[in-house]
Amino acid sequence: MKEKIYFSRDEMFEMNRDLLLERGVTIEDVAAIAFRQQSKYNPNICMKTCIESVEKILSYRDIFHIVQLSVEIDRLCEEGKLRSPMQEIIRADLGMFGIDEIFGLNIAAMYGVIGQTNFGDIDVNKPGIVKELNDHGKGTNERCHTFLDDVVGALAAAASTRVAQITSEETAKKDPHYEPIKFDL
Ligand code: MG
Repeated sequence: MKEKIYFSRDEMFEMNRDLLLERGVTIEDVAAIAFRQQSKYNPNICMKTCIESVEKILSYRDIFHIVQLSVEIDRLCEEGKLRSPMQEIIRADLGMFGIDEIFGLNIAAMYGVIGQTNFGDIDVNKPGIVKELNDHGKGTNERCHTFLDDVVGALAAAASTRVAQITSEETAKKDPHYEPIKFDL
């Protein structure tokens, strides 16, 4: 029988959640960055909405492919299975290697230009788990997180931007002529 290549949203969410956990990242770690970023603009946001946003983003097919591929590249590099010179370039997390950031920008772009600027903020300031991954995943460390740190930062940026969109929708609802949306945020 052929190996399965089509997965449901629920399956993709669960596979992403489990793989991130295997690499030391929880949904709460990602949501905490989104919460911290978004609470600068809106003190009323709640962690529950941030967690729901991370979960939802992890269930999308494009995100599934990026998360799964990124972890595979990091793992193969840890095991020394890439060929030169990519093995050494990814192992060193070379500053001028920007493919990991391309993956991050692509995830963040799901939530438009604001998603991408929010990713830029996280990429520069490296809050929470992003810093841990970055510090423990390069050079002589056992772990390689060259791709994962950007992917996790971008998931947080996307979640943070989704929270901002929910807040915008709630503001729109205050209009007396507001009609309930038939679209999903
Ligand atoms: Mg990186």
